Amino acid sequence: MNLTDEYFATGSSFYIPLFRKLYDYYFAVMKKILLAVVILAFFSQINAQFNAGIARRVITPDTAVWLSGYAARTKPSTGVLHDIWAKALVIDDNKKNRIIIVTLDIIGLSHELAETISQRVIDKYGIDRSQLLLNSSHTHSGPVIWPSLSMMFEFVNKDLQALIKYNRKLADNVLEAIDLAIHDLKPMNLYIAHGSANIAVNRRLPTEKGYVIGVNNDGPVDSDVPVMKVETPDGKLKALLFGYACHNTTLDIYQVNGDYAGFAQIEIEKANPGITAMFLAGCGADQNPNPRRTIEYAQQHGRSLADAVQKVLSGNFIPIRPPVRTSFTTTDLEFSPWTADQFKEEMLMEDRYRVKRAGFMLEALDKGYDISSVSYPVQAVRFNKDFTILALGGEVVVDYSLNTKKRYPAENLFVAGYSTEVQCYIPSARILKEGGYEPEISMIYYGLPGSFKGDVEEKVFSAIDRVMKKTGAKPVNRKP
Ligand SMILES: [Zn+2]
Repeated sequence: MNLTDEYFATGSSFYIPLFRKLYDYYFAVMKKILLAVVILAFFSQINAQFNAGIARRVITPDTAVWLSGYAARTKPSTGVLHDIWAKALVIDDNKKNRIIIVTLDIIGLSHELAETISQRVIDKYGIDRSQLLLNSSHTHSGPVIWPSLSMMFEFVNKDLQALIKYNRKLADNVLEAIDLAIHDLKPMNLYIAHGSANIAVNRRLPTEKGYVIGVNNDGPVDSDVPVMKVETPDGKLKALLFGYACHNTTLDIYQVNGDYAGFAQIEIEKANPGITAMFLAGCGADQNPNPRRTIEYAQQHGRSLADAVQKVLSGNFIPIRPPVRTSFTTTDLEFSPWTADQFKEEMLMEDRYRVKRAGFMLEALDKGYDISSVSYPVQAVRFNKDFTILALGGEVVVDYSLNTKKRYPAENLFVAGYSTEVQCYIPSARILKEGGYEPEISMIYYGLPGSFKGDVEEKVFSAIDRVMKKTGAKPVNRKP
């Protein structure tokens, strides 16, 4: 018979004080433990300014597919150098604002795919369009995203079907990465600091025959490497979002890979086990890595960028405070005037890409499509006054990054290109005047009627001003 049994059996009052004492002692201890748990939870909450979740899905194609970025490739991929990824970082600011950042190791999302993905995320999570930031690394060793750059390729139906299947799977993968990241939401802190890297050279070389793609050591570059770190309240590193403005064009091989940005993410994750490293592509449309064309160079550039990030990690960071404010808008960018006769003449030319583009334009006119402009997306994500990501669509030349920094000198800013969708190059007023591949020739491969009108930079900046104003940022003067 134990103590309690005896108490109930005998009804003896002798055992009551002892029983109570044990009972009280037990509750006193439990109360202390509970209080400690509550205090700990409370402090980890007030020590954490945000909730953040991180997840990834592999997006390496499981069959041979055509790789994008070069018209010179003649066949589908023949293998995989390393996996490519869709990575999602979801940040809640504890004030009911959310931002979902997705980075992708692909050439760029088509308008169609960006729309599909955005709508699915909006429908599922009830977010505003401004709360989803999609950014592509612009690797030239990733799958063709159909129908982007469709003028570049001639494939048989079987290859096209493989790409359409890949595109569908890609949308599912992005949604799954976001789902997993939302399920992973935990108290986290964010910090920002900047470093610099030296991989890019300006690729617009002035010659007697105009601007050609080459190495122009005197042209503008942007060496900034922003590093945003995501940490648990007790200081454990969980994710790094880092950026750089340079084409991922070291390689033109047939094995799938993320080029220097892919190697950089791998190196950073190796140096910081258990974390997720995410690459945000900057305004690198007129920037190429130098030197190029061997796997060793791609690895070397990846290591340089990873080293720049590691160097930042050993220094001081600024804490990022809530709230996160987001804004998204579109503006119509108009093309210079063209005529149907001009495309009819082009149909008789020898250049097969021009012939294909002309046929495409005439077909569009026949069907009554409006080909006078493109709708251009501009987005701002501003964390208090501490860090702002301006996310521009398309292949944005470096002038936009440099000019935005001049226009918003008080902002701790990173200007991302290749965001939302990649519909074509976005030249500055300067580059539009100079001519060459980015403002003129590339439009053929993108299946667009020709160069933009002279007001392109002005139009983009008025959209930039709109989204910056909505997130609370003020320009230094009225004109860029
Ligand atoms: Zn490009």
